[in-house]
Amino acid sequence: MHPFGLSRADDAAMAIAAHAGDPELAFIAGGTDLLGLIKDRAALPKHLLDINGLPDMARIDAAPDGSLRVGALARMSDVAADQAVGRRFPVIAEALLSSASGQLRNMASIGGNIMQRTRCAYFRDEDDLPCNKRRPGSGCSALYGVNRNHAIFGWSDGCVATNPSDFAVALAALDANVIVRRTAGQRAIPFVDFHCLPGDMPERDNALRRGELIVAVEVPARGEGRASHYLKVRDRQSYEFALVSAAAAVAVDGRRIRSARLAMGGVAHKPWRLTAAEASLGGVSLDDTDALKSAIARSFVEARPLTHNGFKVELAQRVALRALETAGERA
Ligand SMILES: Cc1cc2nc3c(=O)[nH]c(=O)nc-3n(C[C@H](O)[C@H](O)[C@H](O)COP(=O)(O)OP(=O)(O)OC[C@H]3O[C@@H](n4cnc5c(N)ncnc54)[C@H](O)[C@@H]3O)c2cc1C
Ligand code: SF4
Repeated sequence: MHPFGLSRADDAAMAIAAHAGDPELAFIAGGTDLLGLIKDRAALPKHLLDINGLPDMARIDAAPDGSLRVGALARMSDVAADQAVGRRFPVIAEALLSSASGQLRNMASIGGNIMQRTRCAYFRDEDDLPCNKRRPGSGCSALYGVNRNHAIFGWSDGCVATNPSDFAVALAALDANVIVRRTAGQRAIPFVDFHCLPGDMPERDNALRRGELIVAVEVPARGEGRASHYLKVRDRQSYEFALVSAAAAVAVDGRRIRSARLAMGGVAHKPWRLTAAEASLGGVSLDDTDALKSAIARSFVEARPLTHNGFKVELAQRVALRALETAGERA
């Protein structure tokens, strides 16, 4: 086991200053991802700063205007069980409940969830196989290796990994913001810009910089929020990451879609919004399956499957359709 020092923070400003000044320091919340990474030697921080004692970061606030603010230290199980979350944004509760296991959700924080790293087996392998995310410049073992679970959108020759968070897919569909605190104040990062595509910097997962602490995620009030659904397809029904998943939310006039929001998991290095499909779904009847299918297909012209994951192109479209139809049934 890699040795590290552990200290506890009770003041956010001091935690941020400590993080900014020490490139070997990592925040730790539930530890359910970070400790695994340390065991796999994919992360080797010298100091862990336990942020669980920071005040006011575990609150779940449902505002009268229909928006929602979830503190970064709120536990996944608490958010999933919150009545206002379930009523306003079923897609969030369902994404959380389909994640990991009950024990993990009791421990795992919201901030840690959106920060979790890819489950690419080469990245997590303690034998230190070629992996540009783990060791920049060493190559990508998955590009021509076992890549059944990998990306079909937005990948580069440098990395074909997918983002494993279910919650992140729901947040991307709902245009949430990540609220980040730093020495110079606070900034809001639109969720669709929070995670990066791999490009030629696969080691970089997201837009967070050193010296920045996630304090909350905010979900704006949405007409589509209540009629929403998260559908996850995986190799076994529990305790497994998504092969493909979809977050769908709709607003309707009668049976016709007024606006739709669709994002997918398991298909890219970040939650993947189906913007072309969304643009084509306006005015389409929820009963017109062929029209729904052809709108969704518009987002798949840019799909680029790898050697072992061609099946995801068809599977993902079916999952998006089913998620959309189920969301529509709730309208
Ligand atoms: C067996 C297993 C199965 C799983 N299955 C799923 C699944 O199906 N779906 C899914 O979505 N997830 C799944 N997970 C992942 C799990 O949800 C994450 O491990 C968890 O959400 C991470 O939260 P944490 O609080 O434990 O983070 P930690 O492990 O404490 O931290 C993770 C990272 O986030 C950083 N961090 C934490 N909080 C902050 C903050 N406030 N600001 C800035 N940085 C911060 C840490 O420095 C670290 O880099 C699974 C995990 C395991 C072990
Ligand atoms: S897909 Fe990304 S994480 Fe996996 S081996 Fe390639 S570079 Fe590493």
